[in-house]
Amino acid sequence: MTKEYDAIIIGAGSVGVPTAHFLSEKGLRVLVLDELASSGQGQNKAAIGGARATHSDPAKIQICLQSLDIFSSWKEKTGTDIGWKEGGYCFPIYRENEENVLKSILPIQKKFGLDIDWYGPDEIKKVVPGINEKGLIGGTYSPHDGQVSPLLASESFTNEAVKLGAEFHYLEKVRDLITEGGKDNLLVKGVKTNKGEYRADAIVNAAGADASAICKMAGLNIPVNPDSHEAGISAPIKPFLEPLVVDIRPGPKGKTANFYFGQNLEGQIIFCYTPIKPIYGTDRRSTSEFMPIMARRMVDLIPRLKNLTIRRLWRGLYPMTPDGVAVVGKPSDVEGFYLGIGMCGQGFMMGPGVGLNLANLITKGKPLIKKDVFDYLSPDRDFYGGKKEALK
Ligand SMILES: Cc1cc2nc3c(=O)[nH]c(=O)nc-3n(C[C@H](O)[C@H](O)[C@H](O)COP(=O)(O)OP(=O)(O)OC[C@H]3O[C@@H](n4cnc5c(N)ncnc54)[C@H](O)[C@@H]3O)c2cc1C
Repeated sequence: MTKEYDAIIIGAGSVGVPTAHFLSEKGLRVLVLDELASSGQGQNKAAIGGARATHSDPAKIQICLQSLDIFSSWKEKTGTDIGWKEGGYCFPIYRENEENVLKSILPIQKKFGLDIDWYGPDEIKKVVPGINEKGLIGGTYSPHDGQVSPLLASESFTNEAVKLGAEFHYLEKVRDLITEGGKDNLLVKGVKTNKGEYRADAIVNAAGADASAICKMAGLNIPVNPDSHEAGISAPIKPFLEPLVVDIRPGPKGKTANFYFGQNLEGQIIFCYTPIKPIYGTDRRSTSEFMPIMARRMVDLIPRLKNLTIRRLWRGLYPMTPDGVAVVGKPSDVEGFYLGIGMCGQGFMMGPGVGLNLANLITKGKPLIKKDVFDYLSPDRDFYGGKKEALK
């Protein structure tokens, strides 16, 4: 027998869990399905927990400002600590071209509500104690960005959603969608899993690195390709570093683009780099080259980090889109189907804001932020900017 809900969310991850919470808050009967054993066990737990509204496009700035509001007030609202630390984000700069790029986006960042500014080298040295001074020109600092524990957050968002009546089914994989109509007027009415069938008015695809497969079930070709990234965490040291630090210079030997790290509430240094060439695929084995490259870069930037003890390394998947922008909203050709996918390297920080906007879209027919800003994330856009042929 099929069971009826108001909304079904495929994926209990960075996006699906807060979406379930906000839909339940609006009084909807919500079912969340995940093939893994509990919430947050997909890419959510691979994130290092950086949460910033420091972006260059208005949609991400505004959605992440909403996320920051939710993260920073969560303990007050629910009584649960999710490891929120308001230490800001700092982008220290050593090269003029990068200074020009960061300064050029400050007006748009400020216009859309971000508290951020350019600081001279002396101020950056105060924000990042022990930073290498040689060639330091200055940098940007946004004091209200921060960090959160992805595991604590997904557990707490789940618990709060359950209190509001949401059901979570784990170890249950969505194998197909129940649909009606044809190619140009498809209506998604439910899901088929390895355990049963469920129907709802709204089906939300929040399936992370596997989101393209779910889109195909609705006849949609939306490119989300897993791209693997490594990260690590140290044993705790005495707190000295408030912000998450992003060094946007490429590293030596053509291996790395930017790298970023911060110190969490427990005093652990948590770190990650972006390979210069994306590593597409689902390989999650740690490599032998990650830690030597990472250690060199971190110690060059902050020499006092040289005595860190590394506790654990891991590798996870960014759900990447060709244009590096998330896909959020309702595809115009399909009814009853909503997307919160293609989060790239920012799904944890975007998750609560995306959930809030999807909940509004589903219940009120429009997002919370202005529609023309939100449309930047539209599932209907050209993902290749007209360059698909050139990319082949
Ligand atoms: C090393 C690393 C560091 C990162 N650091 C940050 C950071 O600091 N800040 C940040 O914002 N982001 C960061 N990210 C990116 C972030 O982890 C992702 O963008 C985010 O977790 C994606 O969220 P999601 O909800 O789309 O996917 P997920 O959290 O993976 O959730 C998707 C869920 O869907 C389930 N699922 C898939 N298919 C099915 C199916 N057919 N049936 C049932 N369930 C299904 C999966 O099991 C999974 O639980 C980092 C990523 C990596 C790898």
